[in-house]
Amino acid sequence: MMTSPDIPLRTHCPLCGPAPSGLLWEDAQLRVIRVDDSPFPGYIRVIWRSHAAEMTDLSPAERDHLMRAVYRVEALQRQMLQPDKINLASLGNQVPHLHWHLIPRWRADPCFPDAIWAPGHHDPVRQAAWQQQAQDLSARVPALHDAIATTLKGT
Ligand SMILES: [Zn+2]
Repeated sequence: MMTSPDIPLRTHCPLCGPAPSGLLWEDAQLRVIRVDDSPFPGYIRVIWRSHAAEMTDLSPAERDHLMRAVYRVEALQRQMLQPDKINLASLGNQVPHLHWHLIPRWRADPCFPDAIWAPGHHDPVRQAAWQQQAQDLSARVPALHDAIATTLKGT
C-alpha cells in the first residue's frame, strides 16, 4: 500500500484510533458506522481503518474489499427504505482518511436535489410533508441497521 505524505494530519485524525460510536460492523480493514446525528434517515458511513487518503492509496484487492462493503450497504438501503436515490460520496476534504458516505435520498428531503451539505429548502409545505415521511422512515432504520450487521457478518 502506498502511504499519503500527511503524517502531521494523521496524528490528529479523528478516524484513526478506536471505533466511533454507532459501529454496526467491522473487520480488520473497515468499519461500518450508522450516522445518528443527521436528519437523513438511514445514513451510513463506511470507513477504511488504516490512514489512507485516496482510493488509489489502496491495493486493487483492498479497493475491491471496500467497495464490496459499500455496495452491500447500498443494496440494503434500497431494499429496506426504498429511497428515490442513493448518494455515494467520498470527499475527505476535511478529514483526509478514506470514508464513504452512503445517503438515501428522497425528493421531499430538506436538500433534494442538491447534496445534503447544501443549504436546505425552507418551504413550509415541503417541510411538513418531509417531517411525516422522515418519521416513518426513521421507524424502519433499526431494521436496516440489523440487516447491515447480519449481512456483513455473513461475508
Ligand atoms: Zn486517519
